[in-house]
Amino acid sequence: MAPLLSEEQCRSLLYAIKNQPEAGDNTAESPNNMHEYGAIVHSPVLTSWVDELVNTKLKNTLQEKFPGMPGYYFSSHHSFITRYSADANQDLSLHVDASHITLNTCLESRTQGADLIFTGTRCRSHVDTAPDEPMTRFRFQSGDAVLHAGNQRHFVTPLESGIRTNLVIWMRLQGEDYQHSNPWVTKRCPKCQ
Ligand SMILES: [Zn+2]
Repeated sequence: MAPLLSEEQCRSLLYAIKNQPEAGDNTAESPNNMHEYGAIVHSPVLTSWVDELVNTKLKNTLQEKFPGMPGYYFSSHHSFITRYSADANQDLSLHVDASHITLNTCLESRTQGADLIFTGTRCRSHVDTAPDEPMTRFRFQSGDAVLHAGNQRHFVTPLESGIRTNLVIWMRLQGEDYQHSNPWVTKRCPKCQ
């Protein structure tokens, strides 16, 4: 985990996402099938900001952190905000993302609980196997970002109080299937070794 955005950048980004122009029917659906509360990033301005972030600003970091990645051009990304609070999400069960790489950035945090826990990278056939020990835990402060492989299994612990809002960016590599069955993914699965 590393700081990515200043407090002010967090505030303006959150404001921009919440105030995107209406974009037709698809904004009514939930950001993904696990998050009931949030919003999809869809405006052209924000979409090009995400595109520049993942394909230009983070390029060196991604190459360094994920050696052997098949290419590094993210031809598509799915971005959404997700919110934990008493009247929104309370937790999130164990899952992998529909991405090659995920960038998870906290835009506001005043919580007890709602920690993000990683339990190890797995290929599709080993997704339900026992967690790596020790598990890795993150407690977000505003501006903190976590970059992880999409098949790094994770969940969110129950919220005790407060609110947390994060921007989640699912990055997908051009020409690669992101269903966690390609060789780059299976190579990173300890159960396949
Ligand atoms: Zn495996």
